[in-house]
Amino acid sequence: MSEIAEKYRGLITLVRDLYGAGAIPLHEPRFQGNEKRYLADCIDSTFVSSVGAYVTRFEDMMREITGAQAAIATVNGTAALHMALILAGVRDGDEVITQPLSFVATCNAIAYLRAHPVFVDVEHDTLSMSPGALRTFLEENAERRGGENFNRKTGRRIQAVVPMHTFGLPGRVEAIRDICAARNITLIEDAAESLGSHIGAKHTGTFGGLGTFSFNGNKTVTSGGGGCIVTDDPKLAARGKHLTTTAKTAHAWDFHHDQVGYNYRLPNLNAALACAQLEQLPAFLANKRETAARYAQYCSAAGIPFLAERNGARSNYWLNAVLTASRKERDALLAYSHAAGVIARPAWILMPQLPAFAAACKGPLENAQWLADRVVCLPSSVRPAH
Ligand SMILES: *Cc1c(COP(=O)(O)O)cnc(C)c1O
Repeated sequence: MSEIAEKYRGLITLVRDLYGAGAIPLHEPRFQGNEKRYLADCIDSTFVSSVGAYVTRFEDMMREITGAQAAIATVNGTAALHMALILAGVRDGDEVITQPLSFVATCNAIAYLRAHPVFVDVEHDTLSMSPGALRTFLEENAERRGGENFNRKTGRRIQAVVPMHTFGLPGRVEAIRDICAARNITLIEDAAESLGSHIGAKHTGTFGGLGTFSFNGNKTVTSGGGGCIVTDDPKLAARGKHLTTTAKTAHAWDFHHDQVGYNYRLPNLNAALACAQLEQLPAFLANKRETAARYAQYCSAAGIPFLAERNGARSNYWLNAVLTASRKERDALLAYSHAAGVIARPAWILMPQLPAFAAACKGPLENAQWLADRVVCLPSSVRPAH
């Protein structure tokens, strides 16, 4: 413990400087704008449920923020992923290539379709899918038949690739897009963590055929619960809106549904909260950037590796993270910080180590394991206005 205290005491002091006294959560929401006003307005209107003006406004704001041609509000980020996979044509028995280092929602959405996640490694610096690992996996395992790609070993069709921008750090998704385009595989970006993160001037989530976002309570911006699908394809957008809203055909009174649809609609009440939060996104991003700079500066002086955005990309710094020297040191730091009331967290247990995905096909996952053993996420909430 004393060695850990020696190395990390200053970092915990910095967390206290940033966030003050008491227990400090990893990421808590901040309501400093029009939240109460819009919620009251929503209640007064009686349109609290699955239709309402705030849903439309939320979708308009998401189009504006991301630059995508279309945005479809959903009840959460997992539903957005599930629907994006459906829109990408993923079917029972298909394979979807994704990364082992992610929140379980990415794989769950694949499993809902009785499709199979396939894992390729992440990069050291972005913690997101490695284009090199993807290319190697496809070269070694995929064969093309009639414009489609099949895994030679399993015989299954490879229908989509789903990278994730870990902690908001933009991955090398331009390179992944090119690999997918050359093979005619749909790219879906899980941008749940990267609202406000850009590569050059382009928003994450807009590089592939579809992108998905989450507005869960722990994300940069929250609607209580909520999600969004973005796409530039008007046909996919229309189909996505239709399927997420029970596949009801427009009629003044008839309840006609032309196929099995989903009740994945975002309630207007949640959309009202989302609109108020999205108005504050620029201020939240500036605040988080300042926090990241404080962490980065301290870590650089203290010789602790800090996970920073890559050149040419701009992270939202949803979560700030450092690399410890080993799994043992990681666990000691987590115990030390928790004892000090600072709720630091490790990265996720790798997906193929969860029972549901243990049998999955995978490439070498050295970077993912190396990172999972060492990453510690630090408190990263927007610091409150004084
Ligand atoms: C938060 C998150 C989601 C979606 O989560 P919901 O709670 O369903 O909104 C999906 N993928 C990743 C990587 C996430 O972090």
